[in-house]
Amino acid sequence: MQQYYRFKRQHPDCVLLFRIGDFYEMFDDDAVAVSKAIGLTLTQRTEGVPMAGVPYHQLENYLRKLIGHGFRVAVCEQIQDAAEAKGIVERGVTRVLTPGTLVDESLLEADASSRLAAVAFVESGDRPRGAAAVVDLASGEFIVFDAEYEPLLDELSRRGVTEVLYAATATGQVPDRVQGVLSVLGVAGTGRPAWQFRGAEGREALLEQFAVGTLAGFGLGDDDHAIGPAGAVLRYLRDTQAPGDPGSTPRTGPLRHLRPPRREDPATGLVIDSTTLRALEVVRTLRDGDAAGSLLGVFSGPGGGCVTPMGKRLLRDWLCRPLSDGSAIAHRQRAVATMVEDRRTAGTLRESLGGVQDVTRIAARLALDRATPRDLVALAKSLGQVQSLSESLAGAPALIGFAERLEAVADQIAPLAASIAAACVDSPPHHLREGGLIRDGFDADLDESRGLQRDGAAWLATYQKTLVEAHSLSGIKVGFNKVFGYYIELTKSQARSAPPSFTRKQTLTNAERFITPELKDFEEKATRAEARAIAREQAIFARLCAESASSIPAIGAFADACAEIDVLQCFAEKAARRSWVRPEIVDEPVLSITQGRHPVLDELLGTNFVPNDVGLGIGEGDTAAGPRLALITGPNMAGKSTFIRQTALLALLAHTGSFVPAQRALVGLADRIFTRVGADDALHAGQSTFMVEMTETARILHHATERSIVILDEIGRGTSTLDGLALAWAIAETLAAPGGREPRSRRGAPRTLFATHYHELTGLEEQLQGRVMNLHVSVREWGESIVFLHRILPGRTSQSYGIHVAKLAGIPSDTVRRAREVLESLAVHHSGSEPGHIPPRRPEDVTGTRPVPNGQLSLFTEYVPHPAIDALREIKIDTLTPLQAFDALRQLKGMTDG
Ligand code: ADP
Repeated sequence: MQQYYRFKRQHPDCVLLFRIGDFYEMFDDDAVAVSKAIGLTLTQRTEGVPMAGVPYHQLENYLRKLIGHGFRVAVCEQIQDAAEAKGIVERGVTRVLTPGTLVDESLLEADASSRLAAVAFVESGDRPRGAAAVVDLASGEFIVFDAEYEPLLDELSRRGVTEVLYAATATGQVPDRVQGVLSVLGVAGTGRPAWQFRGAEGREALLEQFAVGTLAGFGLGDDDHAIGPAGAVLRYLRDTQAPGDPGSTPRTGPLRHLRPPRREDPATGLVIDSTTLRALEVVRTLRDGDAAGSLLGVFSGPGGGCVTPMGKRLLRDWLCRPLSDGSAIAHRQRAVATMVEDRRTAGTLRESLGGVQDVTRIAARLALDRATPRDLVALAKSLGQVQSLSESLAGAPALIGFAERLEAVADQIAPLAASIAAACVDSPPHHLREGGLIRDGFDADLDESRGLQRDGAAWLATYQKTLVEAHSLSGIKVGFNKVFGYYIELTKSQARSAPPSFTRKQTLTNAERFITPELKDFEEKATRAEARAIAREQAIFARLCAESASSIPAIGAFADACAEIDVLQCFAEKAARRSWVRPEIVDEPVLSITQGRHPVLDELLGTNFVPNDVGLGIGEGDTAAGPRLALITGPNMAGKSTFIRQTALLALLAHTGSFVPAQRALVGLADRIFTRVGADDALHAGQSTFMVEMTETARILHHATERSIVILDEIGRGTSTLDGLALAWAIAETLAAPGGREPRSRRGAPRTLFATHYHELTGLEEQLQGRVMNLHVSVREWGESIVFLHRILPGRTSQSYGIHVAKLAGIPSDTVRRAREVLESLAVHHSGSEPGHIPPRRPEDVTGTRPVPNGQLSLFTEYVPHPAIDALREIKIDTLTPLQAFDALRQLKGMTDG
């Protein structure tokens, strides 16, 4: 226990899993907390010391559960052979697992990255800035950036950060800014000694890790704010990945797969802030947080999608960080176009990629000395695809760049793949200790030991036969058992006539087991042979791992190329299957989409989805003229939100290099996409919906530029009608004419879609001619009901249809009728022709006894068509005689009268 407490003191914030024989044990509070969280049985070995344990072969399983429950875990192993120990076995903490530093296949999601970040803030004036370093330990990626507070937050949330390091304060309180980061990301924070965040310390850690004399090559100036967090991340990784191994150096140690830090300015690329990312449901839906139903989900249907885990992760990154550089987008588009046209090449690429497993993460495990036999074999199979991949790529001019990238590393990785394949079997065991990884005939030493084992089986059979004959005991059986080793078994009755050379070893209910000197001899030889075989396999495995580890940079380059090709083929697959088109990317701030479809609803509704057009800032012959702000009016449920989100999603997709679901798309390069669509309640608990709405709108008004795309849904809904209308009016005006009404230029106005149910706003079109245009969603009235056509047309709506929609939703007919009355009085009041007066409700309205006036029943209730419609459709006018026509009419009349 003294030894235990020594390690526990070194890792006070972790659950310590302490290896004792075949179990990992936990004690005291650790045991209590863990047993409560995951339902382990609590026992006591010593009075008053609670204890809980898990079997050693179940470790990964329990680690997954513990990390899932938010525990940090330190694993303390026996690092000495128990047989050789004098007194207590030597132990050491070999791994510390935290949410942001996972690398084991069983602990990670295959299609999402789990990244570790360190943050530091500099309070300068009223605009605090922050710097961050983000590392994906499972791939070696290392990125640094600095930005103002909010862009920094957005960047962290786009990068899938699962753990945040910050400089701990003397009081132990989490600083406010850090707390802000933690709650927006919804992840755990880890306080670290403040000195580790200092620039000088960070510099030292970086110089040492990457064996360089200056950081300038990484784009880091001498007093760069990002150096501190970068150093803090490095020190944390060293502490958790090589605990208790001060001798490990950056080049031999577990972090040798880490790439040098790369500076990435959050303002490059098309910026999508965290609100927009959520509101547009880019990687998960708002309702249940699933990928299915999100934009990401569109790319993962059966038969489509990325085929490698690296591709799946990169796709997510590309959707969260689209490009803003026209030539980079064109580069991707060319590759997609090639694969859309040349389906054969696309097919062979897809097939070859199918053989590539998660080599990025295997490389990380190689560096961390945690690769398994299966990793090694998977690596060989994956690297073995390099030839067929580069051959398929070399045929197409748009893909030749990828072929060159693969050929540059082929010389290194193809021989590596071959040497692993020559040594290892095709279906390797889970653990090295099971034996059987290395092929027969590969190593003479190993073959000899295995030969001994195999000969042993024959020897045993012969030995059994000899015994039966020599002692005339027909029931003799020679067998083996893991605990007791080799034995000769006789039934109870035969045991009495056992010869004296048999020594009793074990008594069972119906049998006795014996050993003889010959058998004992054999046992020793067999055990030695087995141990030798395993040791030999271990040595060969270690050599192959070391050989692979020395090629980590080449493996990384191979993995990166595969990931990119995979995402591009996934784009091509989607484009080909769903008839998506290549958007034309231009510099002018225009956005013109013909017959655009919502990527998610299009697949869900199929032909029932109504495509729509939109044109912002576009004039005759695609010139950059015409209003940039469109006001969309129409009743609730008509399709306003769908239309504006669809437009934003198509613009986003166009910036990733993907094709888009439309007949034609002309997209001017954008710097940001802003959205203000419905409150995210979970996140802003404590703030009123209206406050959130206005805060987000304020951000848009401050930051939107001529290059931005803005999507606003129902602004002003959170307050009284007049306030809301006034605000919506002023906000629309500001966006359409940022420089004021005069001069009448559109300079500075972002491309904006403004959905509103205030049809009063449509007056802006006249007031700000050339800068605002009206669109509406068409609706057809049928008596007192309405039918949604989901078609966006120019012009304004005549009325708001709120009462129609309420009726569709099932508001009782009395209430609906009363609402009409109130509306009429209000409208009269509004028009100013009569003093406003809402007549009191009549008693019969309440009891509902008033007869329904004839002819007021709707033909169309809740989309269920009247049978007369079907009958009408059936009628073939061309073949009817006048008499039959009259009959048909009478029948129809009968149906409707009924
Ligand atoms: P609004 O924002 O006007 O209240 P929504 O955009 O939320 O309306 O649309 C309401 C519903 O109408 C959606 O859930 C969708 O099922 C359907 N819908 C919207 N647009 C279309 C369309 N273009 N084609 C077919 N159905 C649509």
